[in-house]
Order: sequence, then structure tokens, then C-alpha cells
Amino acid sequence: MKVLVVNCGSSSLKYQVIDSDTEQVAAKGLCERIGIDGRLTYQPAGGEKEVTDAPMPTHNEAIALVLQALTNPKTGVLKSLDEIEAIGHRVLHGGAKLTQSCIVDDDVIAAIDEASDLGPLHNPANLIGIKTCQKLMPGKPNVAVFDTSFGMTLPEYAYRYAIPTEYYEKYHVRRYGFHGTSHSFVSHETIKYLNLDPDNSKVIVCHLGNGASVSAVQNSKAVDTSMGLTPLEGLVMGTRSGDLDPAILQYLCNHEHMDINEMLTVLNKKSGVMALSNGLSSDFRDLENAMNEGNKAAGLAIDAFCYRVAKYIGAYTAAMNGVDAITFTGGIGENAGIVRKKVLAHLGYLGITMDEEANKQRGKTFVLSTPDSKVKVIVLPTNEELAICRDTVRLVNAAKA
Ligand code: AMP
Repeated sequence: MKVLVVNCGSSSLKYQVIDSDTEQVAAKGLCERIGIDGRLTYQPAGGEKEVTDAPMPTHNEAIALVLQALTNPKTGVLKSLDEIEAIGHRVLHGGAKLTQSCIVDDDVIAAIDEASDLGPLHNPANLIGIKTCQKLMPGKPNVAVFDTSFGMTLPEYAYRYAIPTEYYEKYHVRRYGFHGTSHSFVSHETIKYLNLDPDNSKVIVCHLGNGASVSAVQNSKAVDTSMGLTPLEGLVMGTRSGDLDPAILQYLCNHEHMDINEMLTVLNKKSGVMALSNGLSSDFRDLENAMNEGNKAAGLAIDAFCYRVAKYIGAYTAAMNGVDAITFTGGIGENAGIVRKKVLAHLGYLGITMDEEANKQRGKTFVLSTPDSKVKVIVLPTNEELAICRDTVRLVNAAKA
């Protein structure tokens, strides 16, 4: 089955066409600057990448251009749109109602809309993507895959915040967790790769990218995860602060004469390693280069990032009363050897030893720990699009049966 996977951001859209039988990508690309001017990137498997400037006032035009590129008689990978049997959409927040991937109908659309105040930047864009695909490819099933689904198996003592119950009951204020599609995919692939027992295993996944989170996965189910009601909680990230004392908000709002929205913008966009490096960069390639040239702030940013990851690994080892495997993924986890080394340097007490030679590799699946390490540590590239494709096919086939 050929599946179009769509990931709509507020002004961008990533897409892939995946053949679910072979799990190979037939074509992929990106629409950028939607609502500003517009640029389409299209790359067929084994072919040249094409970048075209094209007006995209809305996601509507963007998706129409993607479909044109896919069916272009010269470079397209589809003879006609009929070849696409289903569309899988990444949706950020499922809220309290949408706890697992589902085929989109009017009720699902209403529930995604309802969850928009929990995901104000993404859910409206995700909905536009769904509605546009419904319009441009009528009759094809659309499947919504939520970033929050994987966190739905957390026990109540892990997902509840210690604030008055009425806020949970009235507004569903709880830990949801994000990057769920990645944590789910990577934990399952880790279990397969290391031949662990899916029903008797303890895995910690460190998804370290510009947004970053850690999850504890016991017997193939998430039991804790570091992001919360929103993606702001947990690790130090590219530009997000992660955990902090909530009283800092009032203290700084008073001193800096900011309102709470301005404060949240600081915590989401102007904090993290970007802030700790004094505005140098949120990119670990820049930070590592600067650190090697003696920039102390860049070194501090990297150390603070790694320390927080190690603290979460310690906490999640306690949450599961042990750990069999730790997996690094995401742009940083897959590529930045310095980060892996610094994180693991905190974890000698778990009997972990790292293979220095192995750590020189990047961007592929490999074992990072030495054979005698008490806990296996691996690097495994995430593939959220493939995970969305798999869920889409599973649901569409189940609906046919
Ligand atoms: P993601 O959000 O998962 O796409 O990760 C993006 C981040 O990965 C970038 O901001 C960089 O910090 C990091 N990254 C990507 N490539 C490399 C690399 N070759 N070495 C170190 N860090 C990298």
C-alpha cells in the first residue's frame, strides 16, 4: 500500500510517500515559508532533489503543489493520485479524548480542534492538513497519529501533577508527553535489535533533538516521560528551558515587567542551550566547535544538557527498578558523540562502559556499550514517518476487514 505521510507545522509541511510493503520511501520533501512566499523541496528516491519557489498562501496550495510534484509526468513517482491508498497525519496533541491513532471522522476533527488550546501552534496546522487532504483526495482514509498517545499508558501517580484535583478534572491538566511516535518506534526497534523480551524489558529512550525528551518503557509500554502538559518540561533543549522552579515565572515577570505570555516565549524560544551559550547557537555542531576553541559558555551549555539527560536516566532507572537498555536517538543522540560520552560518564554506577571506537560512528544503528557493560547502550535513528505509515496501514486494513 502506498501511504502519504504528512507532518504540518505552522508555516511548514514535511511529507513522504512510503510503500508499506517494502517500507521504502518513494519520495519525500518539504514545503517551507507557507503564508510568507513559499518553497517546495521534492526528492524522488534515487533522484535529484528539486527546490522550487512557488507561492503558498496557505497549506491548501502547499499540499496541491506536493500532489502535483508526486504526479509530475517526468519526475513524479506516481502515475496518478489513485495510487495513494491512505494518508497518515502527525497530530501534536490528542488531549484527553484521543488516546490512540485513529481514522479521521467528524468527531475526531472536533476533538483535535478541542485540544488546540493545549497545542496552539501545531493542532490548527495539523487540522488544515487533514481537511486539505480530504478535499484534494476525496474518499481516501486519513489517519491521525498523535504525539501524545504513547504517554497514555503512564500510571496515574506518574501523570498527575500535585496541584488541586479540580484542575485535572476541569481542564485535564496532566502529563501527556510528546515525541510519542518516536519513543514508541525507537523502544520497539530497540527491543527487536537487542533481542529483548517485549513483555519483560526495561528500556530508556533518549530522544535528543532540538526538542528533547526521555521516556521509560517497561514491557513495551511507557511508564514515564519527561515532557508534560506541553513540550516545555523536562530536559534542557535547543531553546527551551525544560524543568525550572515555577516561582521563577512570577519573580521575573515582576522584575522585568513582562506578562506571562512574554515569559513563556522566553522559556520556549530564548532559553535552553541557546541561552546558556550566551546566544551563540542552539545547534550542537556550533556548540562543540566553540567549546573546542575555548568558549566556556558553550562548554557549560553542553555540560548542563548532558547532566539533565543523565539525571532523567537515573530517575527512570528508579521508576522501573532497573534498566536493560538505553537508546540514543534524534539529531543530537544519533550524531553528537560528545553528548553520548558526557551523558554516559555520569552513569558508571550502573555498570555502563562505553566503547570509544564505536562512539565515533553516527547516523546509523550501532551498539555503543562494550560487551561487558551491565546495561546495553545503543544508537538507533528514529523514523517517525515510518511509524506513522505503519499505524495508518494497520488501521486502514483493520477497517477493511
Ligand atoms: P532534530 O530536532 O532531531 O532534527 O535534531 C536537530 C539537532 O541535531 C540540531 O539542532 C543539532 O543540534 C543536532 N545535530 C544534527 N546533526 C549533528 C551532527 N552531525 N553533530 C552534532 N549535532 C548534530
